[in-house]
Amino acid sequence: MANGLTLQVQVVTTTGLIYEGEADEVVAPGSEGQLGILPRHAPLMTMLKVGALHIKHNGGEETLFVGGGFMEVSNNQVIVLADDAERAADIDEARAEEARRRAEEALATAASDVDRAALEGQIERALGRLRVAEIQRHRRPRRELPSQG
Ligand code: ATP
Repeated sequence: MANGLTLQVQVVTTTGLIYEGEADEVVAPGSEGQLGILPRHAPLMTMLKVGALHIKHNGGEETLFVGGGFMEVSNNQVIVLADDAERAADIDEARAEEARRRAEEALATAASDVDRAALEGQIERALGRLRVAEIQRHRRPRRELPSQG
């Protein structure tokens, strides 16, 4: 930012601190839709759904998978308390694909609504992980432009 004002971002799960860093903008999967947070954002507390958390800084972007949770914004601090979270680079796509396949197979013979809801949740998480991994794969690596002359 031109005025040097940034957000301080922390993404925390029960396993610990998944991400910590500065950001110019955070885009989160709010329960009511995508939420863009810029510096000086008004204080906010919201639930998050399963999806992608984008952390933009200095023209670069880090994307994380979040499996739902809460986000609190206050004093240029963004704290995400996620049920599950992984940086895009840490996502095991084969595992997510297998989790999706297994859950879909089980869904076909699920005996109760409770089982079905749990399996649908697993499918949603697996698809969310696959989408975040795909975003990461298609992201062009940032590189220095060769200097002219
Ligand atoms: P799965 O059905 O694949 O196991 P899940 O959402 O039920 O997925 P858990 O088994 O509870 O997840 O996962 C235990 C830990 O492993 C969690 O902390 C989660 O962040 C991580 N995890 C789950 N799936 C993946 C994946 N595909 N890649 C990387 N980490 C994962």
